[in-house]
Amino acid sequence: MKRVKIAIDGPAGSGKSSVAREVALDIGLQYIDSGALYRSVTWFFLQKGPVDAGTDFTAGLSECSIRQEFLADGTCRTFVNGADVSRSIRSEEIARHIGAVSDSVPVRNFVNSLLRDFSREHSVIMDGRDIGTVVFPDADLKIYLDASVEVRASRRVNEYKEMGKNVDENLIKKQIILRDEQDKSRPFGALVKAEDALYLDTTGMNKKEVVGRIKDLVSRVL
Ligand code: C5P
Repeated sequence: MKRVKIAIDGPAGSGKSSVAREVALDIGLQYIDSGALYRSVTWFFLQKGPVDAGTDFTAGLSECSIRQEFLADGTCRTFVNGADVSRSIRSEEIARHIGAVSDSVPVRNFVNSLLRDFSREHSVIMDGRDIGTVVFPDADLKIYLDASVEVRASRRVNEYKEMGKNVDENLIKKQIILRDEQDKSRPFGALVKAEDALYLDTTGMNKKEVVGRIKDLVSRVL
């Protein structure tokens, strides 16, 4: 099988990570969760003190070592300086601060170079916001996944339920709208469909259908 890079971008809750994970397992690709890296950097800085738009993210980055493992059961684990942060990076606190961290150009350069390093050894499927535009403009296949805000909010609520957490769907919807604004208006690495990306609206599709469609597209570039 030739070495390939598959980029899946789209807004929060569009199903990128669960779909990419399943496609990776079925086809034998390495799944890389770029959002988990931004979450990990946010976690790292929150351990050091308050985080806001004025925080200087430059110096501390040299002390932040991140590793990601994609396991045979389809789970993806992320480690910061050896500590498994896979669960803690999914917290509300991270969600509240991640916008400021992801706006920082030094942080984006740091994450992008890690992502490119991770992809050197394997065929990869990577999900995020700017994978097809900034990280891998030369990706073999680019997909932009989208869905209505309502459907994305309800998917997120279900994910929280699976983790044993009950959350207010209206609040999640508001957070998603805010995150869309932040992700789309970022001066560097903004969420935008790459010109050569295939647009897939999953509003009326279930996960099995989306996975099947993407597997079909991936098989054409292998
Ligand atoms: O994908 P996930 O929802 O975990 O991403 C969390 C946040 O990380 C996004 O809202 C965005 O702020 C940031 N992110 C980014 N670029 C990426 C992936 C994630 O800025 N490629």
